[in-house]
Amino acid sequence: MLFSPYPKTRREELFDREVELGELESSVERGERLVLLLGLRRLGKSSLLNVALNELPNPSIKIDVRKTYSEFSSVNRYVIGKMLLSGMSGKKRLVEEARAFLERVRGVSVSGFRVEITSRDFSITELLEALNDYGEEAGRVVIAFDEAQYLRFGGATRYDGILAYAVDNLPNLTFILTGSEVGLLFDFLKPDDPNAPLFGRYHHDIALERFEPGLSAEFLRRGFEEVGVEVREREIEDAVEKLDGIPGWLALYGYTRVTRKLRHGEAIEEVLREAKSIADGELSRLFAYSPRYRVILKAVALGYSRWKDIKDYVTLKLGYVNDSNFSALLENLVKSGYVEKREGRYTIPDPVLERVFRE
Ligand code: ADP
Ligand code: MG
Repeated sequence: MLFSPYPKTRREELFDREVELGELESSVERGERLVLLLGLRRLGKSSLLNVALNELPNPSIKIDVRKTYSEFSSVNRYVIGKMLLSGMSGKKRLVEEARAFLERVRGVSVSGFRVEITSRDFSITELLEALNDYGEEAGRVVIAFDEAQYLRFGGATRYDGILAYAVDNLPNLTFILTGSEVGLLFDFLKPDDPNAPLFGRYHHDIALERFEPGLSAEFLRRGFEEVGVEVREREIEDAVEKLDGIPGWLALYGYTRVTRKLRHGEAIEEVLREAKSIADGELSRLFAYSPRYRVILKAVALGYSRWKDIKDYVTLKLGYVNDSNFSALLENLVKSGYVEKREGRYTIPDPVLERVFRE
């Protein structure tokens, strides 16, 4: 169902995105080694990734790094190794064909269709080398890290170094990294820093954008049609105006209307309520770190767009804050994609969150 509120996995459930899907698939087919799928939250990165991995004939492994981090509070090599292996476990063809290669990796054991880490000798690099050897036979192996900016919490394990090694030396692997927090992802990869391991490595970037208004309206019409619900054109237009072209909010609106049989206005209110709790969850770490984040977001949402005006607002509400601390906080919000900076002006790029933060 087009309105299902979970990341899509099948082509039929994915609205539009033909161009991006084609670009993602052909970058794998062409043998590119590092592909970045970028864009704000809820634009459909995970959905696009899932569908591409499903459609491509290549063996693939996907890890949700954000989920891994929140589950284990760490992404050390055992945790990421465990997730890579459990991403394989149960994939019968992959385990069957790769068995001989995996059994050679120190600290890894294969029993039946389960692959596990069994000792501290385990190294991610060796695992990747084994997958590369397997890929030589089976066709390139795609390894996807969803929300890869969380790989920066690797502690002693430097994933940027591991990626650089793999990109240089393991030609049968393609890494696809998605990132909602684009600034943080680039902070982690540092492709432009001469002292960083990934400096100068080619990466193919695919940026997801929001739907144009006409396309958003078409998405809603198609979704309602699919479940046989009639909806007024005026309501569709109003929904597009309030939710913009962000498929996650559009889908949530449709889903709420259809499953809870709400009227238009109620469904919009419900999306806003839901958005508030989603945002609180996503931002809880930042808010716990500094209460100023919430006030900065409120200032920007209220329309204060210049550095000085935002800072004055925060000072008024919370008292003195020094310039460099304030700048660091604001910059973090930009890097995490909650705030956008253009020509010296700060705004909230997601109109739904803008309304939520204003309250
Ligand atoms: P992201 O990974 O960028 O945060 P998701 O793939 O999780 O985005 O998508 C957010 C929500 O929007 C999900 O409920 C998903 O089903 C829906 N969605 C996103 N893109 C599309 C699309 N092209 N067609 C249908 N639903 C979509
Ligand atoms: Mg996602």
